[in-house]
Amino acid sequence: MNDTPPLKVFVTDFDGTLAGEDFYNLFVSRLYPPGAPDYWSECVAGRITHFEALRNIFAYAPVGEAAILELLRDMRLPTDLPQKLAMLRERGWQVVVASAGCRWYIERLLEMAGASLPIYANGGSIIEGRLVMEMPVDPTFRDDYAGIDKAKIVRSFAADGTTVAFAGDGATDVAPALAVPAPLRFARGYLADVLKQRHEPFQRFQKWGDIADALR
Ligand SMILES: [Mg+2]
Repeated sequence: MNDTPPLKVFVTDFDGTLAGEDFYNLFVSRLYPPGAPDYWSECVAGRITHFEALRNIFAYAPVGEAAILELLRDMRLPTDLPQKLAMLRERGWQVVVASAGCRWYIERLLEMAGASLPIYANGGSIIEGRLVMEMPVDPTFRDDYAGIDKAKIVRSFAADGTTVAFAGDGATDVAPALAVPAPLRFARGYLADVLKQRHEPFQRFQKWGDIADALR
């Protein structure tokens, strides 16, 4: 082993990208109490930040750790994730996770899938039955709006000449997707819609494993 930086880095969003499901969607549909404030609309209207919306929703009610862990069973990570990561490693790709979600569930899900990856995400822990999300401790990629600035992560890897690929599906993925070359820009869902509207070329993906296969 040496300290030479990797020549190729694949920055992947987590919810809805590496994981087939979105933790936020599962949380809201199964655990968020009816009649609770609609923080997401507040965010869309620009009255609170993306970080504040997720933090307020996740911490709103003491739903209990067991119920939250139950959600993780339905997040649909690739069943062959360790094999895909080994294949990518062999091809010279280092995979890193960049997420505006919470490290607490990402770490657990990767562990359940038998994988270990660098994670750039918001902090957080279970406090008295609530998932309490926190701003990242490390200021390097901290962002007032989403907690994590994914575009800054992409640009920091690209700055020293590293080839960078990016995959995502959401609103916080637009800027980082546009920071990589089109052949290495993977999108689906909302991100794909936005890129299409803007006439920006991209590679559409159905599942994360297909991106792993495509990266050479
Ligand atoms: Mg996502």
